[in-house]
Amino acid sequence: MSYDECYVKSVIRTIPDWPEPGVQFRDITPIFKDPKALRMVSDAFIQRYIDSDITHIASIDARGFLISSIMAYHLKLPLVLVRKKGKLPGETIDQEYALEYGSASVEMQLDAVGPGDRVLVFDDLIATGGTILAACTLVKKLGATVSEAAALIDLPDLQGSTLIQDSGVPVHTLMAFEGL
Ligand code: AMP
Repeated sequence: MSYDECYVKSVIRTIPDWPEPGVQFRDITPIFKDPKALRMVSDAFIQRYIDSDITHIASIDARGFLISSIMAYHLKLPLVLVRKKGKLPGETIDQEYALEYGSASVEMQLDAVGPGDRVLVFDDLIATGGTILAACTLVKKLGATVSEAAALIDLPDLQGSTLIQDSGVPVHTLMAFEGL
């Protein structure tokens, strides 16, 4: 593990049994209170994509927005939003996905991306992978290609990143945490 990865990992706060028993919530808010950690995380993603051929970043509601807007600024790329249902104005398409209990939906605006676009799908964390897979489905429904899915944190025990990779989308994460 690199010094930067160790440092950022030490800044992320784990809150046991939140929002429900058994979940270890990986709280990234301390990164934004620590300019050094924020710079390390932002730089890691900017360096990865500086020479890539991605044309858009599709960022997932809501913590994904925080880092991806810094990336979009430095990489000079358009940022488009994948939001929870009911938050985006204008014409949208939505995609439902399963949660442990029940389901949820994410939405994109119809003109967010289109044929010929090569999209990076970005979120803060991959758990079961359901959110990113739903976002990838939306991007594809709009006619664009998903180049990669990226997140700060992977929870490999939940196998979401494996599912995403099995769907044909490469996955890039900065660090992994054991457990749920
Ligand atoms: P999933 O769709 O199961 O991959 O869940 C990913 C989404 O849920 C991300 O947008 C995360 O912000 C949130 N999430 C799921 N599990 C956790 C966790 N243990 N700690 C923090 N956020 C989580």
